[in-house]
Amino acid sequence: MPIWVRIVLSRFPAYHEAMQTINEALKKLQRSSFRSRFQLNEEEKEYIDKKGMDVIKSHACDFVREKLAPADPTNDGKQTPMKGHPVFKAMHATACCCRGCLNKWYHVPMHQPLTEEQQNKIVHLLMAWIEKQMKKEDKQM
Ligand SMILES: [Zn+2]
Repeated sequence: MPIWVRIVLSRFPAYHEAMQTINEALKKLQRSSFRSRFQLNEEEKEYIDKKGMDVIKSHACDFVREKLAPADPTNDGKQTPMKGHPVFKAMHATACCCRGCLNKWYHVPMHQPLTEEQQNKIVHLLMAWIEKQMKKEDKQM
């Protein structure tokens, strides 16, 4: 690693750590045949294009707050539909679909409300997955 990169990273350790965690998580998820089966279809990609990333991100924040953040979410394990919104698919693809999966994949403790920071991390991961899916489409065109 060049020295200047190391200097930059040492100034922003939290940013570096967060980015690394997201990339590592995405790589690990790709190795799961169940998780990697979730892919955005054309209709969902069009929806994202139409709404824009900021709106999708605000939907992701809402879903994480409503479906995952409470200490014991309603219907935990079944609260995230398989379709109906691209963020739902992202939640399954990234193992952020319920507290059980969050615990299994990311060691998030159960029966405790999620902190603001934990919620932000989940939203970042969801958006990183969606952005990757959107880039895939560009390559095909
Ligand atoms: Zn789950």
